[in-house]
Amino acid sequence: GALGALLECHGYKVILQKFDPYLNIDPGTMSPFQHGEVYVLDDGAETDLDLGHYERFTNTTLCRENSVSAGQIYSNVIQKERRGDYLGSTVQVIPHVTDEIKSRFERKKDDCDIVITEIGGTVGDIESLPFLEAMRQFALDKGKENVLFIHMTLVPYLRAAGELKSKPSQQSVAKLREIGIQPELLICRTELHLPQDMKRKLSMFCNVEEKSVIEELDLQCSIYELPVALHEEHLDDIIISKLGLHGRAGCDISPWKRIIDKIKHPDTAVDIGIVGKYTELRDAYKSINEALVHAGIANSCKVNIVPIDAEHVERDGVECLKNLDGILVPGGFGNRGIKGKLLAVQFARENNVPYFGICLGMQIAVIEFAKNVAGITAADSEEFMDNAGKHVICLIESQQNIEKKGGTMRLGAYECQLNEKSNARKAYSKECIFERHRHRYEFNPEYEKLLTDHGLLISGRNPESGLVEIIEIPELDWFVAVQFHPEFLSKPTRPHPLFTDFIRAAKNNKSKK
Ligand code: GLN
Repeated sequence: GALGALLECHGYKVILQKFDPYLNIDPGTMSPFQHGEVYVLDDGAETDLDLGHYERFTNTTLCRENSVSAGQIYSNVIQKERRGDYLGSTVQVIPHVTDEIKSRFERKKDDCDIVITEIGGTVGDIESLPFLEAMRQFALDKGKENVLFIHMTLVPYLRAAGELKSKPSQQSVAKLREIGIQPELLICRTELHLPQDMKRKLSMFCNVEEKSVIEELDLQCSIYELPVALHEEHLDDIIISKLGLHGRAGCDISPWKRIIDKIKHPDTAVDIGIVGKYTELRDAYKSINEALVHAGIANSCKVNIVPIDAEHVERDGVECLKNLDGILVPGGFGNRGIKGKLLAVQFARENNVPYFGICLGMQIAVIEFAKNVAGITAADSEEFMDNAGKHVICLIESQQNIEKKGGTMRLGAYECQLNEKSNARKAYSKECIFERHRHRYEFNPEYEKLLTDHGLLISGRNPESGLVEIIEIPELDWFVAVQFHPEFLSKPTRPHPLFTDFIRAAKNNKSKK
């Protein structure tokens, strides 16, 4: 991602893509506990969270083709075999699987100047071998001057010995050379500054020029320091010269310098509670955490994220919410922790604490309002399987008979028209927006009249289907809940309007205290 940002600073058009050696068709069916969040693209592809980094760091909008898994590759090969496309030959990893992989590396010339392809996994994995072999062949096909191998490696620090170790890098480069790949650049993740003699040693053992041994130091403050840090290591110049790409005018890294400056020198700070189910895993709400950082940049404000386990609220009550300046309930699946989330929404509503509900967080807000304001005591979501419940959140017809779980939710960008008098309309300063979705259940239109009669505002709607996309409680300072995932469109260079407005409201709330 940071490399993409850096090349964009030189004026190149970049596409980034991720190849993952696992056998799932996509991460859509994987638990956030295993794999972090599932990141969704405009076209509805459910992808690895690295694609989130790529989009946050660059100006490209990625698509389904930019996220490839071994599962997709093998599934295609097997389909072709069944169709008879291989005309009687024995279907093998080389050449059939590798050809299928190679066909996915290439992008049309008009679309971009440089394609950055990241291969997930570790060198030496059984699963990643066909991907590395395909890369080697690809460089042979395209001419070595058009392809550059960059190896990301870890240089661990052994505290007991007080030493940085080059051995893991030596080993992985040796493995790469065994299969015919000589990396030309080494990017070394390290927690300590790499002394020149360490760079020299890595250069010697790994057969990489000394200037091409690049340090990627663990960053003190923010990952958004990375483009500048890598620029200072001349990574961009080395890549540009190795690929023989001259002729672009200079490099403007100043937007990234401004971002770092904003992050390092905030005027104030707010505490935002995220009441969720996957709180112990840092990457489970990756895009939300990042969007809050971006909103902090826009407000010259540090956003302290306070992870709160919904089940903890369920057990011990709302005491832990008392000092927060804003509350956010993120997306999620299944009924674990629902009671705690309902309590958190109720607390925000009754105490006029700015509330931001995202996807499941919106559905919970609707249920809470129905129960405690509109008097529908049995209000519930069809997802939570209580047949006696009144389903203010339900499955719409097109979702009712779906049995296949993978890739069948309401996915990707949908239009939403905003209500004239809403906070959302003010925040976006636009009438019509497009936001990314990933959910099955929806606001049940049968309850719309009753809920709006009690003061709920439907502030956004999809024009074709009429589905409710945003709700608000206008009587409160800031209570906005959305059926989509705004976090997927936020970038440090372009903070998302709803997150920005939420943090503004949290700042106001804090200054009132
Ligand atoms: N579980 C809910 C649904 O499927 C919400 C999904 C989400 O929060 N992403 O509709």
